[in-house]
Amino acid sequence: MVAHDGPSQVQRTPILEEVYSGAPSRLNEEAEATFSRMVSNRTLSKSDTRKTGLVLPPDTSKEDFERAISDLQSKIGAEHVQINDKPLDDGWYLDHPKTHDSHHITDQETLVASAVVYPGSTEDVQAIVRWANTTGYPLYPISLGRNFGYGGAAPRVPGGIVVDLGKRMHRILDLDGDNASCLVEPGVTYFKLYEAIQERGLPLWIDTPDLGGGSLLGNALDRGVGYTPMGDHWGNHCGFEVVLPNGELLRTGMGALPGPNGADNPTWQSFQHAYGPSIDGIFSQSNFGIVVSMGFHLMPAVNNQSYCITFPEDSDFEQMVEIIRPLAQQRIIGNIPQIRHVVQELAVTGRRKSDFHQGSGPMTREEIRAAASKLPLGDCSWVFYGTQYGPPETINSQLELIKKAFSQIPGSKMFLPKDVPEDHVLHIRSRVCAGNPVLRELDWLNWVPNGGHVAFSPIAPTKGSQARIVNDIITKAFHRHGYDCFSTLCVAGREMHYIAEIVYDRGDPDAKMRAVKCIREMIAECAEHGFGEYRTHLLFQDQVARTYSWGNQALMRFNETLKDALDPNGIIAPGRNGIWPKKYRGKGWELGPNDFDLDNIVPKAK
Ligand code: ADP
Repeated sequence: MVAHDGPSQVQRTPILEEVYSGAPSRLNEEAEATFSRMVSNRTLSKSDTRKTGLVLPPDTSKEDFERAISDLQSKIGAEHVQINDKPLDDGWYLDHPKTHDSHHITDQETLVASAVVYPGSTEDVQAIVRWANTTGYPLYPISLGRNFGYGGAAPRVPGGIVVDLGKRMHRILDLDGDNASCLVEPGVTYFKLYEAIQERGLPLWIDTPDLGGGSLLGNALDRGVGYTPMGDHWGNHCGFEVVLPNGELLRTGMGALPGPNGADNPTWQSFQHAYGPSIDGIFSQSNFGIVVSMGFHLMPAVNNQSYCITFPEDSDFEQMVEIIRPLAQQRIIGNIPQIRHVVQELAVTGRRKSDFHQGSGPMTREEIRAAASKLPLGDCSWVFYGTQYGPPETINSQLELIKKAFSQIPGSKMFLPKDVPEDHVLHIRSRVCAGNPVLRELDWLNWVPNGGHVAFSPIAPTKGSQARIVNDIITKAFHRHGYDCFSTLCVAGREMHYIAEIVYDRGDPDAKMRAVKCIREMIAECAEHGFGEYRTHLLFQDQVARTYSWGNQALMRFNETLKDALDPNGIIAPGRNGIWPKKYRGKGWELGPNDFDLDNIVPKAK
């Protein structure tokens, strides 16, 4: 009953062939190298004794909690319910904890679960939900719990019960080569689906984010992005099955229409919208249910060519965006390309900041130029990574058009993979943009000791002058708080997901406090200009949700109405995306723009 679900003490790479959350053994060498680099830059001990010990769900006693846990164990099996009372271990990407936010931006013990439960079936999930309705304990569903930079596996309410769906529910339920689609359980990672497709020899691609260890289902629910033409993960889901807060099971999309003789509907993974109100959206970035399977469209494999283009000056940003817009809207640019600032180029080599800069504060422009000039792409400020798809003649003519358009910016240079060394990130982008999941992007966490990251992710219009406002706000805030600006933009024809990662030392409370301040200030300043985040860390969700305030918080009132109707006992992920059930609302749980000290977020302890 008290076994610990932290990362294993054995320092070897978890392999997909042995564990659902591992990386394929063909990536073993890469994974081992990543792990050693990370460990060599770690000064924190692996796990310390807990200061506070077990954190209980709100308003319960130890005795009641233990009784309730025993009751749950009798329903789903004793070994599938584990109390979280052992030292916390942050582990690493491939061996991550489900007990807390391992990329903590406050005290490590702030965002912790009281227990982690492992359902093995939809019936188990229903049993857990019904149990929670009797105890009132908050559940926090995760698929893989690798939502790093946004809260990881942690529950928003300390002492919540993490429902780890992925550990025992990781089957690929359907892989349809003709329909180019799949139906998966929560624990299916990009790695796993990719390997399954290769094994079956299907001419299909998946769309993967930068790292391949996340789940299709969790990433889509939090509206993550990838880089092929099918990079909008939520946009490419097609139907799902969800356990509602009252324990009932619901199918969305065409799946709501039963197939012949009890079979699944034959068009469930063919048409997203089906008939009647489109309810799928209310289950993404919300807390209205627990999704137990989800369908996705897949992309037919095609010929492809990746490339990158460098731009010499920081001030080229505005013109770059103006050039991108028509190319993307006309679909001459083939995929969801990335724009990266050159600091990100330096960091993704796995080198440490201390190799280039001494002391606190961000790198100076001169230091960045000096370091960048030694990289294969040379001294530059921005790098555009794109991929074109189709027959070689189509690709060549598109590349000509793209090159010509960007040549309006003096000093821009195009590179193909053959122009850069084998270990350059362009080769990695080339794999990712062909749906081949990788691990390489973990390397920028070595920038500082005990590297953690937290993302600030506003939506910027693909219009130069407006995107520049967002870029200026972010750059100034990062520098004001002593951080290097790791800017990456995922680009579309009308908007860009601007993803700015703060990479900080998890062992440095001051660094964490600066990160919190920096993000709170950027949320507020961007909102003043009309720019909002598409996704955020658990501890900023109240603030972000309330910037979407048009009509005197009409959207939040609507969400709260839904929450109260669907989940009257407030058991599913209270506070997730800023939506609090009636039971918690207005009692001090909401965190505002001036809440910087986040070590104690439980109201009575404030
Ligand atoms: P990843 O698969 O990338 O590791 P997570 O499992 O951490 O992603 O999921 C991201 C977020 O999406 C979680 O924090 C949770 O709020 C939500 N989520 C994930 N899986 C489910 C699910 N099956 N049902 C409901 N919400 C989920």
